[in-house]
Amino acid sequence: MIRRLSTWGALAALCVATMLAGGGVANASGSQSTPQSRSTSAQAREMDDMRSDINTALYVVNRFWATHWSRHFTGRYYPPNIFGGYSRSGKAAPYCGYKQLTYNNAYYCPNGHYIAWDTDLMRRGYREGDAWVYDIIAHEWGHAVQATLDESLRSRAAELQADCLAGAALYGAAADGTLLFEDGDVEEIADAYQALGDRLPWTKPGDHGTPRQRIAAFNRGADHGINGCF
Ligand SMILES: [Zn+2]
Repeated sequence: MIRRLSTWGALAALCVATMLAGGGVANASGSQSTPQSRSTSAQAREMDDMRSDINTALYVVNRFWATHWSRHFTGRYYPPNIFGGYSRSGKAAPYCGYKQLTYNNAYYCPNGHYIAWDTDLMRRGYREGDAWVYDIIAHEWGHAVQATLDESLRSRAAELQADCLAGAALYGAAADGTLLFEDGDVEEIADAYQALGDRLPWTKPGDHGTPRQRIAAFNRGADHGINGCF
């Protein structure tokens, strides 16, 4: 996915093209880089690409909610604060109240109204496709939206409602023209839900629903927008 009509989007697309053309890259002295340094620079590039996709996702999802809030809800729109990434080897996981957030997970914390994610989790998903980070950010943002709504509007299946709100935000952003879906994004989103249902510890089917339920919830938001989630 890329953000439309911006130099950012153009740069992100350019990076992909550069990566595809890569391989056997000569360094400044003209000699071939060693496999070691090549993989290190590929990793650095992957991190840069991911960071720019995360920033794009934050921008696009916030823009969607800021634009459409008052058409659906009363009261002010309160975007969540962004703690951002944490990891075992880097910045420690933040506390949500008295509890430290766990690794290999992503969160919305009502205490502080912020979203945060494990960078390693993001990176593993990102290797499967960039849609992963958009999906996780749109989902956690969905929880932030739920938290600011009247209790009567919050579904008891809060996780599936957050999936629905993620679909509404990403497809709504595409309809608004701020986000452009690329070939493969839809499949990547479906794959992400398969992976989150099968492999990663933070998906407990009782809490989040099966992959099939999650995809159905996401699609409901994609097809029917915010109204489809309430
Ligand atoms: Zn959730």
